[in-house]
Amino acid sequence: MAQYKHGNFLHKSDHSEYDKKYSPGTEAPNPGIYRCVSCGDEIGIAKGHVLPPQNHHQHAPGAGKIEWQLVVFAQQRK
Ligand SMILES: [Zn+2]
Repeated sequence: MAQYKHGNFLHKSDHSEYDKKYSPGTEAPNPGIYRCVSCGDEIGIAKGHVLPPQNHHQHAPGAGKIEWQLVVFAQQRK
């Protein structure tokens, strides 16, 4: 699970982007921390980089499919 110390650096948001699930090998639409919905593994990824494909993150048989969900959005200054 993603961790932090200083809560004042994080802002709670109900944006629908946090509800979307992305397949391995698709481009990350936002930079930040993503977690695998099935196993909870987390990654940090830059905007436009490809979410880890099947061969970078293996599940045991029957553990469910790999899907990435945005946990923390890294907001960059314009
Ligand atoms: Zn997983």
